[in-house]
Amino acid sequence: MSTTNLSLPTGGSVAVRTGIFINNEWRSSSSGESFNIYDPTNNQPLASISHASLQDVDDTVHSAKRAFQTTWGTQIPSSERARIMFKLADLMERDTEKLAALESLNTGKGIRIARGYDVPEAIACLRYYAGLADKTHGQVMDHLGPQALVYTMKQPYPICGQIIPWNYPIMMWAWKVSPALAAGCCVLVKPSELTPLTALALCDLAIEAGLPGGVLNTLPGLGSSTGEAITRHMGVDKISFTGSVSTGRRILVASAETNLKSVSLELGGKSPIIIFPNVDLEEASKWVAMGIWGNSGQDCTAGSRVYIHESVFDIFLEKMCARAKELIVGMPYDEKTNFGPLISKAQQTKVLDYISGAREEGARVVYGGTDRCEYPEGCWVLPTIITDVTTDMRVIKEEIFGPVLCIAPFSSEKQALTLANDSSVGLAAGIFTSDHSQAMRMSANLEAGTVWVNQYALTSNGAPFGGWKSSGWGKDLGMEGIEEYLRVKAVHHNF
Ligand code: NAD
Repeated sequence: MSTTNLSLPTGGSVAVRTGIFINNEWRSSSSGESFNIYDPTNNQPLASISHASLQDVDDTVHSAKRAFQTTWGTQIPSSERARIMFKLADLMERDTEKLAALESLNTGKGIRIARGYDVPEAIACLRYYAGLADKTHGQVMDHLGPQALVYTMKQPYPICGQIIPWNYPIMMWAWKVSPALAAGCCVLVKPSELTPLTALALCDLAIEAGLPGGVLNTLPGLGSSTGEAITRHMGVDKISFTGSVSTGRRILVASAETNLKSVSLELGGKSPIIIFPNVDLEEASKWVAMGIWGNSGQDCTAGSRVYIHESVFDIFLEKMCARAKELIVGMPYDEKTNFGPLISKAQQTKVLDYISGAREEGARVVYGGTDRCEYPEGCWVLPTIITDVTTDMRVIKEEIFGPVLCIAPFSSEKQALTLANDSSVGLAAGIFTSDHSQAMRMSANLEAGTVWVNQYALTSNGAPFGGWKSSGWGKDLGMEGIEEYLRVKAVHHNF
């Protein structure tokens, strides 16, 4: 039960979990409902997954509460939590090939990238937070005299709902689950209904690592039902969400209308990259290409708006066209592929609509702009470059979440900054300049949660990641990431 075998395009097969994981046990949905997931390379069904019902969510909350009170949250020392988490990371490393195959099969990203980046990054994140599990603590206010003791305690939110998008399923799992487990929380993970396979595979590893039942629960299902049920449950104390701005708003409403549960939101972006003429344009074009075409543009920090000094606009455009041409559009299981399909037909249609809308509004598509490639059944949109864009166009204002790069010229530093900050979201930004005073000035004035200087799209487990403006509230990663899962209590102790 709850398992199916999927054939791998390279030969052999891989066992896939298709059930709901509660209290270290697999079960089918109490409603008997299921949903299909699809192969983005040909739009054919990959597997049928149990759909967690309202009842399943309720059962999970009760089992997680028991686990919090009897094991993970209060009875197990933090050093033991760390040990189990390190063990889980080791098991993930052992099973890298399987996890990478599942991630690649489900998302369409190149197997080489899943194996060399997504899975190792997830493992490194888990280890980072395992290391922090026994290093968070409160403070003593020791300035109040001998008869007074005032101190703070940091205590975990007992039950956390963790809602994950489809673009980096295993990495986003790690960004959410690792700090929560380290803090001592018990979690209900809801993977995206498009990409649940790696989150489900990790449950078996959690049992093997010795995680007590009820600590890590995984509830696949649609956002509008399973997701809503988690965000509206009165027994859930915290929601950590990564996804779109519109879903983030719904989650805030759900919290406001129920128990005012704490909410962290990692939402969308429309990130600008500013390039001054004093840099090596060849090098800058390499980072820009990675920033917009990595993961086929399905990246919250995608550098989708490039502002380039007018004196080097033409030469930079030429370089970007050459970079687009170099990409290897191909099947995910081909080791050479570095440009896979989009996640779904719906996403493909959405991206193509943005491109045709840009044409209608008077912009110029200078490269790509089409789904025409060797794989017509799949969900590809080819790397695309658009120029002649104005500040009011949808293509420059809205997050596309596809491989669409807009390039516009600027004439002064002030104008570049105004253009870059002209957005309702502020997740990330990039600057390329050889003048480090200019870089520091710009970094201080850009309205974004992350700024990259002379590089792009690199993250570090030690550096907090999260947006400004409508890109969200709170942080993943870094010390800030674990603090999101801890509540501070002040104790005034009289002797
Ligand atoms: P989405 O908002 O459609 O879905 C994200 C998750 O929320 C899914 O698991 C979905 O099932 C669930 N969901 C949907 N409706 C819900 C509801 N009413 N209540 C509870 N849960 C609900 O986003 P997506 O399309 O999966 O992902 C793309 C978006 O995610 C983009 O906007 C992207 O920028 C953003 N993103 C942000 C970051 C970040 O760190 N800031 C990282 C990755 C992706």
